[in-house]
Amino acid sequence: MEKESNIYIIGAGISGLIAALELEKLGFSPVIIEASDEVGGRVRTDKVDGFLLDRGFQVLLTAYPEAQRYLDYDLLNLKYFDPGAIILKPGSTLKIHDPLRNPSKAISMAFSDVGTLKDKVKMFLLTQELKKKTDAEIFTGPNTSTLQFLSDYGFSSKIIDNFFKPFFKGIFLENDLSTSSRMFRFVFKMFAEGQAAVPALGMQVIPEQLKSRLLRTQIRFCQKVESLQGTNIELESGELIQADAIIVACRPDLLIPQLQGQTKPYKKVINIYYSLAKSFIAQPMIGLLPDDQFLTNNLVFMTDVSKSYSNNDRALLSVSITKPVTLDDKLAKLVAIELSAITNINAEFFEHVKTYEIHDALPDVEDMSVTLPATSSKIYDNVFLAGDHMLYGSLNAAMTSGRKAAEALILSQQTIH
Ligand SMILES: Cc1cc2nc3c(=O)[nH]c(=O)nc-3n(C[C@H](O)[C@H](O)[C@H](O)COP(=O)(O)OP(=O)(O)OC[C@H]3O[C@@H](n4cnc5c(N)ncnc54)[C@H](O)[C@@H]3O)c2cc1C
Repeated sequence: MEKESNIYIIGAGISGLIAALELEKLGFSPVIIEASDEVGGRVRTDKVDGFLLDRGFQVLLTAYPEAQRYLDYDLLNLKYFDPGAIILKPGSTLKIHDPLRNPSKAISMAFSDVGTLKDKVKMFLLTQELKKKTDAEIFTGPNTSTLQFLSDYGFSSKIIDNFFKPFFKGIFLENDLSTSSRMFRFVFKMFAEGQAAVPALGMQVIPEQLKSRLLRTQIRFCQKVESLQGTNIELESGELIQADAIIVACRPDLLIPQLQGQTKPYKKVINIYYSLAKSFIAQPMIGLLPDDQFLTNNLVFMTDVSKSYSNNDRALLSVSITKPVTLDDKLAKLVAIELSAITNINAEFFEHVKTYEIHDALPDVEDMSVTLPATSSKIYDNVFLAGDHMLYGSLNAAMTSGRKAAEALILSQQTIH
């Protein structure tokens, strides 16, 4: 393939940006067609009323191998979460320190209210076990549901209900912990080996950093691809583009007629932001609400993690709801009332900033794998797929898939010529 070839990438999310970076390394100058007005895809940050609002609570796990490969952490100015969680129940607040990173050392006395002594030992054993395994071994290892794995491993229902369920519901965005135990073990390992962090100025700084490295890629914003026929691209505007090769770095089932209806529904989350006079957690830690009567699953004061999320002295609270609730005008009020019951802070003091309902938050991938064989990104001649849906829902997977799609594109050209 000539360096002047017309290579198009559809989507300027993390996977599309990585594909472009990899193609540039080999001398190509791809064009990205992006439906929205900025890079990032699902990793976007809005500025609203003096606050930085990530579109859905998400974090970077610094141990992600692909993130280490592509991101400059210093430039991201990462702000770190304290490992562990605050467990919020009516009338009690328990802190569980560092259960995934260093369970033997750091679990406080409060652990006895969260789990059993045996859980502490199991946690330690699992950490040690996973640290010794490669990611490939994890992704080819036993594949049950996360819930089944936890109970087979011998964790008590106490720690499963108090900690594992709310913590991993907030990560997997589903309520039964039916997500593959491979994913659980991978994420557990990532937490054990690194830290959870956000860039000081919001998650969108991550795709912005990738974009800043693109020197020869053209990005056409606000241009939606309507459909693909072979290497012919039809834009919503009616424009037709004849490409030499295409990387589809967004949902392919919505663009390629033959793939229609083949994707399982994505997982959804509702994310409500409030501002308060001050944080009731007062440390950079995730709060969990294990009690099923509450709509809220997890919450965090973003301003406890990075002060820059607010340009005034009010604290910014991010609340995630994974339960299947309908978003209406009463929801933010209702959630403020339940948080009031937990914290004894008058519900009126929870000032609603904005609510996001994210329908296509995470793909539901049945057969998760750590990486892709060189050929499997190719869907037909000169058309390749990238995106987290190829592997598992995460920034790490999106990066891997972007790299693999670029490699597959190059490889297929080499084999032809
Ligand atoms: C609420 C939430 C929480 C998350 N939490 C975490 C977390 O804590 N840690 C973690 O690692 N991951 C997390 N993730 C997952 C992570 O954000 C994604 O896996 C990753 O961003 C996916 O990148 P992608 O490039 O595959 O897809 P996307 O980000 O979806 O990118 C696709 C791009 O294609 C564009 N596009 C779509 N259709 C068209 C079209 N027809 N024409 C032109 N352009 C089009 C879109 O506008 C978008 O920019 C979370 C995601 C969400 C939503």
